[in-house]
Amino acid sequence: MPTAIRKRLNELGLRSRLRARPRVQGRILAPAGLLRRLPSAPGLYFPFYHDVPAEYGDDLRHHLRTLSRIGPMISWENALAVLAGDRPLPGPMFCLSFDDAHLTWRDVAAPLLRELRVPAMFFLTSGMVGRPGNLTWQDCRDLVAEGFDFGSHTVTHTRLADQDDEAAARELIDSKREIEEELGVEVRDFAAPYGHPAVDFRERDVRTAREAGYRSFATTLRPAMHAGDSPMWIRRQGLHPAWPILAVRTRVHD
Ligand SMILES: [Zn+2]
Repeated sequence: MPTAIRKRLNELGLRSRLRARPRVQGRILAPAGLLRRLPSAPGLYFPFYHDVPAEYGDDLRHHLRTLSRIGPMISWENALAVLAGDRPLPGPMFCLSFDDAHLTWRDVAAPLLRELRVPAMFFLTSGMVGRPGNLTWQDCRDLVAEGFDFGSHTVTHTRLADQDDEAAARELIDSKREIEEELGVEVRDFAAPYGHPAVDFRERDVRTAREAGYRSFATTLRPAMHAGDSPMWIRRQGLHPAWPILAVRTRVHD
């Protein structure tokens, strides 16, 4: 095997081992956070999480309290209004979301969000619902009844860029339809799995999303957003609750 490929595989292996050990990953990221500050200038941030195992519940509370001290946590709908210029952006503001279909949304995240009165968007991978370790449709309906928002994160969590036109469109359209049928709410917001342009999704997928009736499309590019920025190119900052605030600063900063 060529050295370059072996090196790349080693890097990928290291990265996935670190993902499985988020406290270690957080400690490795932390020193770079010394060079950054949490935001102080006007800017809209979209921090997002995946699974929130119970052991990290207090850590997530700490993250959310820290961000709330800097600026308000607003709903997806209100965040889109900020981008449209229909709501002011006087300082840093935060709009929270969660990806996939984790059971811990029901057991850990939602109780915490209720306690802190923080709105959130849940981007659901529809094909994961009902599988072991994931939410059931009834769990999702209960979260809707509590006022949480739901968007689509495809059917199978595939990398859209790897799919042909028809398969990619099905991921966007079928997930929207199934979530709408199961939850009885309109689904107008989409988050691309992995979320990096060109590598993980293509312009084609943004176009398809628009045609399918989505009003927003979330990527994992990180810089802050402002009035006038496109809702079809939302920039989100991926975080893990196990990270210290210094590591958060590497993702959410001016
Ligand atoms: Zn995902």
